Amino acid sequence: MPYRVTLLPGDGIGPEVTSAMKKCVDATGIRVDWDEVMVGAPAMARYGTPLPQEAIDAIRKNKVAIKGPIETPVGKGFRSVNVQLRQELDLYACLRPAKYIEGTRAVNTNVDIIIVRENTEDLYAGVEFDVDSDEAKHLIREINALSPKKVRADSAISIKPISVFGSERIIRYAFDYALKNGRRKVSLVHKANIMKFTDGLFLRIGRKIAEEFAGKIAFEDVIVDNMCMQLVQKPELYDVLVLPNLYGDIVSDLCAGLVGGLGIAPGANIGAQAALFEPVHGSAPKYAGQNKVNPTATILSAVMMLRHLGEMEAAVRLEKAVADVIREGRDVTYDLKADRQDPSAVGTREMADAVCRRLKK
Ligand code: NAD
Repeated sequence: MPYRVTLLPGDGIGPEVTSAMKKCVDATGIRVDWDEVMVGAPAMARYGTPLPQEAIDAIRKNKVAIKGPIETPVGKGFRSVNVQLRQELDLYACLRPAKYIEGTRAVNTNVDIIIVRENTEDLYAGVEFDVDSDEAKHLIREINALSPKKVRADSAISIKPISVFGSERIIRYAFDYALKNGRRKVSLVHKANIMKFTDGLFLRIGRKIAEEFAGKIAFEDVIVDNMCMQLVQKPELYDVLVLPNLYGDIVSDLCAGLVGGLGIAPGANIGAQAALFEPVHGSAPKYAGQNKVNPTATILSAVMMLRHLGEMEAAVRLEKAVADVIREGRDVTYDLKADRQDPSAVGTREMADAVCRRLKK
């Protein structure tokens, strides 16, 4: 029986990188019945919404999905489809590995880090009140009555909820992941020196859960600004990082930069009912339709998907085929060449074809 997987091509460069990924997964010999559903700009044009209910239903039904990036208008327009999907399907754990691959333009070769980012709470919860709105004015009056610190009347407000439930769930996920995958340490990242209640709660819960894993998994906590510097200077000290939503988003891009850029950074969003795999990068609209960008991040997201499906052997083969093509450095996209203007760089399709040829060797 083939696996039935929901495929959301997205927009911008999404259709190109997901089509490259599909070809590579099919070339492993694992049979996948791709249930393709429109989201993002094409869905907006056809259905008047970037996230039709049909897409959510399809993911719920198939339980496994892989998607290309989707553009989000900045500061206006519809809310992020990516954030909506994570919240709607309660995909609470965002997993983003950053691992050095020989042949990439990595800043540091000594990186093998798994980022576990909380995906549903924090400043990404979507609880926001616009400047001068009745709600913001009401909230500011309440806050100013309750708190010795005063909020200016002309403020917009974003709320940062961090719950006991959400924190326990993600921190436990990070420790369980570390244990199951032979990792040695979990570093909890926070800013509890300033946000004593929200980040302070996250840290207290982390310390409590760490006690249950004492002797098996080491634990430490690191303040987020210090963590950014440490990651640039000594990434080899870090193994599994667990972070609230916003820090997780920023630090995962930093780690992607360390190992050679967004073009090679994969990701997964995991919940109790479904798992959604996607590259860390966005829709890079300036490259859309040019057969130019690197398909690696999406192909490596499919490697994570194959592992999730229990297809370990195919996952290892596909990961190795990608690593071989990158190490050889011939059939790779512009971002993997020493000189980004190198005319020998190949396109998205051609790089995927090289991975497929490698798989068949
Ligand atoms: P981006 O990741 O789309 O692009 C930033 C730059 O990174 C690109 O200009 C390009 O130089 C490089 N890049 C990205 N992907 C690449 C690839 N596969 N190969 C080679 N180079 C690559 O980030 P952005 O410009 O900040 O965002 C564009 C849009 O994407 C925004 O609307 C944003 O909201 C959205 N976005 C979506 C997701 C998602 O769907 N999960 C994630 C991040 C951003």
